[in-house]
Amino acid sequence: MNQQEYKVLLYYKYVSIENGQEFAKEHKEMCLNLGLLGRIIIADEGINGTVSGTVEQTNEYMRIMKEDPRFSDMVYKIDESTEHAFPRMKVRYRPELVTLRLEDDVNPHEVTGKYLSPEEFREGILDEDTIVLDARNTYEYDLGHFRGAIRPDVLNFRDLPQWVRDNKEMFADKKIITYCTGGIRCEKFSGWLVKEGFKDVGQLHGGIVTYGQDPEVQGELWDGQLYVFDERIGIPVNQKEHVIVGKDYFSDEPCERYVNCANPFCNKKILCSEENEHKYMRSCSHECRTHERNRYVKQHNLTEQEVAVRLQLIEQEVQVH
Ligand SMILES: [Zn+2]
Repeated sequence: MNQQEYKVLLYYKYVSIENGQEFAKEHKEMCLNLGLLGRIIIADEGINGTVSGTVEQTNEYMRIMKEDPRFSDMVYKIDESTEHAFPRMKVRYRPELVTLRLEDDVNPHEVTGKYLSPEEFREGILDEDTIVLDARNTYEYDLGHFRGAIRPDVLNFRDLPQWVRDNKEMFADKKIITYCTGGIRCEKFSGWLVKEGFKDVGQLHGGIVTYGQDPEVQGELWDGQLYVFDERIGIPVNQKEHVIVGKDYFSDEPCERYVNCANPFCNKKILCSEENEHKYMRSCSHECRTHERNRYVKQHNLTEQEVAVRLQLIEQEVQVH
């Protein structure tokens, strides 16, 4: 059997879709018939999806979409894989593809930042008068990012505009270039920056995925891994060198392994080694460790006494440091 018999597709298109709810239903039916797995958002303003399947299944999907004039020119970022990257097939209808908490929404067909090729974007990273702004969430940035890029301290993409307003002095007289995973978030975000009055705004066309696959730049100046929203969690970008920037939440040691906090009400993504996962019961804080619904405690059938012993060990650790 061929090692790379699966493909993972990542794609979006801002295009008006009528009866989005109905379309989402039909689209799900079609994907299930093809045997695809993944997650697709359908909105009145377009489509955003990532699916996995065999080479035949994914090719057939792209062929069918090409026949629909709305999606005939949609660009697919394609990764090879040895298996499916998703546990199930979800197609959801939402009012918007990408949500920025805005007074009036941005239509990327009307206003958006300049599209930059991977080569142009690399020049931007090296230019002192250019600010490189990460348009993703902090947990995505923490696993990997462009060298020197700004990490907006927001938990959610929709809070980004307010963060920019609060930090305006950082951007005075500078060019701004933005990037995200596949490009979809930047279409709106860079458009918003233009609307907000920033003069020189660019966006990485095709996102980090395209940058990593570009034969010329080969992912240069990217450090760490690219966070992806499927079972792979992280994929490589820089083909020339691999610098680990992720840090273990507990020990600060280099780490690229994400787990979710075992308190189901916290669920925070934490980078940590397998050793520390067990030591700290996969929990981000004392409160989460001692939460009555802690999943780690349940999974490992820990008795109250066993939990108490571990808590004591952690307590001692804290005192030593
Ligand atoms: Zn927690």
